[in-house]
Amino acid sequence: MKQIQTVKSMQHLAARLRRQGKTVGFVPTMGALHEGHMSLIHAARKACDIVIVSIFVNPTQFGPAEDYTTYPRTLKADAALCRRAGVDFLFCPAVKEMYPSGFQTFIQVEKLSQGLCGPFRPGHFRGVTTVVLKLFQILQPHQAFFGQKDYQQSRIIRQMVQDLALPIRVIILPTMREADGLAMSSRNAHLSREERRAASVLYQALKLAKERIRQGKNSSEMVRKNILDLLHQEPLVRLEYLEIVNSEDFKETKEIAGHILIAIAAWVGKTRLIDNIRINIRPKNANGS
Ligand code: AMP
Repeated sequence: MKQIQTVKSMQHLAARLRRQGKTVGFVPTMGALHEGHMSLIHAARKACDIVIVSIFVNPTQFGPAEDYTTYPRTLKADAALCRRAGVDFLFCPAVKEMYPSGFQTFIQVEKLSQGLCGPFRPGHFRGVTTVVLKLFQILQPHQAFFGQKDYQQSRIIRQMVQDLALPIRVIILPTMREADGLAMSSRNAHLSREERRAASVLYQALKLAKERIRQGKNSSEMVRKNILDLLHQEPLVRLEYLEIVNSEDFKETKEIAGHILIAIAAWVGKTRLIDNIRINIRPKNANGS
C-alpha cells in the first residue's frame, strides 16, 4: 500500500489508473477507522480493481464550536488497518493541500441539507459536499462507498452526483454496530463508561419503533411517543432531534408508509451521536433494513 500526500501526485496516479483501464473504488473517511469504515473498504475491495481510501479531517464541515481540534487522529493505526484490508492507496493530504490559500469555491445541495442535522450544524453539509466533490475530482473513482450511519450525508452525495452528472456509482452500505447495538463511530471513543452504557438506548429506541411499525402501527405520532418514552428513561441522553420522514426527500410523514427514515441525533455528555433506521412499508407487508 502506498501513501500519497499531495493532490498533484494523486491526480497523476488517478490518470494512470484510468489509462490502464482499472476500476477504482473510493472510500472517503476522516480516519480513526473502525469496523464501519472497514465494511466499506471490504465492499470496495470486492467490487473494484483498485481501492483508494482517503483520510482527511475536513475543517470546513466543523462548526466553530465543534470538535475539529479534538477529533481523534490515529493515522499510523489506520494505515496498518488499510494495509491489512488490501487497500492499494491511502490518500492523506494536509489541510493546505485541499484548501490552499485563496480557496473560495463551495458546493451546496440545497433542500436535502436543510432538514435533520442541517439546522443544528450550519454549514456542515456544504463542507462535506465541497470536500467530497474535490476528492472525486482528484481521484476520479468509478464507485464510491458510504455508510447508512450518516444517511443524510450519503443521500446528499447521491443527489450531488446525480445533479452534476458525475460518472460515479454511489453505494450506501448498512450501519455496523457494537454488540449492544450502538452504531460504531469514531466519536464513541470520547464516551465515558457510563455514557457508553447509556448511548445504547438510541438503537434500542429505533429498534422498538421498527417493532411497533411491524406490528401495524402507522401513526408517526404514536411511534414518536414510543421512542421518546424510552429515551426519556435514560437521563444521560439529551435528544437533539427525532424525525420520522420520507427517506428520499426528508419530508415529514404523518402516516408511516413507503420509504421511511427514522433519524435521531442526541448528546451523551459532550459527544453528539446520530443513528437512523430505514423501513420500507409495502402495502400490508412491513419490511425493514
Ligand atoms: P467518517 O470517517 O465518520 O467521516 O466516515 C467515513 C464513512 O464511513 C462514511 O461514509 C460513514 O457513513 C461511514 N461510517 C461511519 N460509521 C459507520 C458505521 N458504523 N457503519 C457503516 N459505515 C460507517
